[in-house]
Amino acid sequence: MFAIDLSNKNALVMGVANHRSLSWAIARALHEAGARLCLTYAGERLKSTVEELAPQAGGAITLPCDVTDEASVQALAERLTREWGSLQVLVHGIAFANKEDLEGTFVHTSRAGFFTALDVSAYSFIHVTGKLLPLLENSGASVLTLSYLAAERAVPNYNVMGSAKAVLEQSVRQLAYELGPKNIRVNAISAGPVSTLAARGITGFLGMQKHHAEKAPLKRNVTTEEVGTAALFLLSELVSGITGEILYVDAGYHMMGA
Ligand code: NAP
Repeated sequence: MFAIDLSNKNALVMGVANHRSLSWAIARALHEAGARLCLTYAGERLKSTVEELAPQAGGAITLPCDVTDEASVQALAERLTREWGSLQVLVHGIAFANKEDLEGTFVHTSRAGFFTALDVSAYSFIHVTGKLLPLLENSGASVLTLSYLAAERAVPNYNVMGSAKAVLEQSVRQLAYELGPKNIRVNAISAGPVSTLAARGITGFLGMQKHHAEKAPLKRNVTTEEVGTAALFLLSELVSGITGEILYVDAGYHMMGA
């Protein structure tokens, strides 16, 4: 009675770089639940990797989409309109900041670096949701993005990405408010540190992961699979009453006080 069945649901999962990506774990969980999938990747460099993964997700459609390129976002919206005509699931697993802004001092963040991080990691969530709104409306759709605790706490070296995640989490609430009347739910998962391409770009990431594992109540790090299944839960009808929520999937680390 409580099984998650997403058969006949169309799901777009953005930000697959490789088999370690959180977006890929979410795509796999959605596939297991029966969803029809489209995976997007940032550019040509990732094309063959994502095409090789697609058969493991039911022969998912694979498309390039650079969220900083308007033509690319437009092409994605047009293709999904032609291909499916409606979208029940949208997953945004995209973030980027310049390497020099993820080390050294936050106080010296460049204006260009600040705008780049916020553009790719936060604005893109608002923009893509808006572009796909005609497909999401009247579909009982669910939208999800991926955040991190640095949205609300100071985390060494996370620097400008913490600012981007704070904007992202507020955008979740604002979108949830605005899109609720259209029966669209908007939520985020705040994941504990998982070794992915993006995470390894953060100076001192491995030390941070070790610290989380030592201090978290579960005494370990979370796995990509745990992020995938938690995402499936949030995207499913089981939580049709939840929107505007940030769900921590971090082995309990976030609620510790000392
Ligand atoms: P990932 O595999 O490196 O995924 C990040 C994705 O963002 C990559 O596919 C990357 O493509 C893509 N991207 C960057 N710029 C883009 C652009 N302009 N247009 C489209 N896509 C772009 O790393 P991940 O850890 O799974 O990250 C997914 C999300 O989870 C991010 O929002 C991240 O902040 C969040 N998160 C991760 C952790 C963690 O510990 N891993 C924890 C909490 C939250 P390229 O490789 O080409 O740049």
